[in-house]
Amino acid sequence: MAIGSTAYTWLEDALETIQRAHWYRHPQIITQGPGPKIELEGQRLINFASNDYLGLASHPHLKTAATKAIAEWGTGSTGSRLLSGHRQFHEQLEQAIAQWKGTEAALVFSSGYLANLGTITALVGKRDLILADEYNHSSLKRGAQLSGAKVINYDHGCPEVLTDLLVQHRDHHRRCLILSDGVFSMDGDLCPLPQLVPIAERFESMLLVDDAHGTGTMGKTGTGCREHFQLPVGDWIQVGTLSKALGSLGGYVAGSTALIDFLRNRAATWIYTTGLSPADTAAALAAIELIQREPERVAQLQHNVDYLAKGLERLVKSNFRRSPSNAPILWVGAANPANALEMAKYLRDQGIFAPAIRPPTVPHSRLRFSVMATHSPGHIDQLLEALNRYYLHQSPP
Ligand code: PMP
Repeated sequence: MAIGSTAYTWLEDALETIQRAHWYRHPQIITQGPGPKIELEGQRLINFASNDYLGLASHPHLKTAATKAIAEWGTGSTGSRLLSGHRQFHEQLEQAIAQWKGTEAALVFSSGYLANLGTITALVGKRDLILADEYNHSSLKRGAQLSGAKVINYDHGCPEVLTDLLVQHRDHHRRCLILSDGVFSMDGDLCPLPQLVPIAERFESMLLVDDAHGTGTMGKTGTGCREHFQLPVGDWIQVGTLSKALGSLGGYVAGSTALIDFLRNRAATWIYTTGLSPADTAAALAAIELIQREPERVAQLQHNVDYLAKGLERLVKSNFRRSPSNAPILWVGAANPANALEMAKYLRDQGIFAPAIRPPTVPHSRLRFSVMATHSPGHIDQLLEALNRYYLHQSPP
């Protein structure tokens, strides 16, 4: 292509449109962390923006496991799992995930995003139907689109609408797959799993639940939403990530031996990519060991969530909806994207890091707070006091 081509000038126009809508984003450099206190571009802040829910990303047990794995096996896996990239530590991690989740087998991917893309596109195609919660994470949405299946969204968290759609459409398709987040990543509420499981059974539909935010946080021992709802394991598909409460990087699928064997043969995002690195694999394995050995971390996280939720409830009664679970994602509403940015800036000036979440990520702008087991009561009090000052000085949205 000739130098000076105009083929890319549309990019600048598109960026300008994004900026005008207050949707423009750019990552900020964290100069110290991870942990409940970070340094962001030179400013010390209490961190309410981390997915490191149990504080394991900086835990000595994980760091030692990762550095030992690098010393023994080097920094890269050097090949795809089916060629030269498969190691004993991958087997160990997959067995540990399956044992922890109570499933027959598990498979690890390079990220949770890729686990969803690979699984959905392997399970369904053009002749099939996907029914998806309208608030699902981008990885489920993209996976559904890429699969070529007919995709119908059902109203958020609404089993009745899902059932109606299944009655109307199920018989016209070969296979059917229901997709839902376990803990919804921007709202912090839970999918109605006790209803979804029997609906899937009744309509002989597959069910995939993405427990990215439930893994390590939900249920008495942190195994996820299934444990929270005290449901038996069943044959539905559990997807999750190693990169949030487990403090590492990667994704997993847990389910039956047949499912995992099929994915090894059909999931393109697993087959045609390099195996998870030695350090990430060892860190995730160490995290699962630690959570099982010291379940008090999960209890501490749930205690902190409760403490912040009660504080927020007292503060902003009219516009704060508290989810009925103990999920570690809470938020307060903003009037519009500009107001969300203003609130985030106010808090930042008060030493608190809580991101503004705006469209197109969510339909309504908000300030979102991720809770960590390593937050002290003082950290949470400082957030509540700063929000209180904000509401005293501004009229709430
Ligand atoms: N699913 C959900 C619900 C998520 O929130 C995320 C991460 N934001 C992912 C999947 C992707 O996980 P990963 O970061 O491991 O790619």
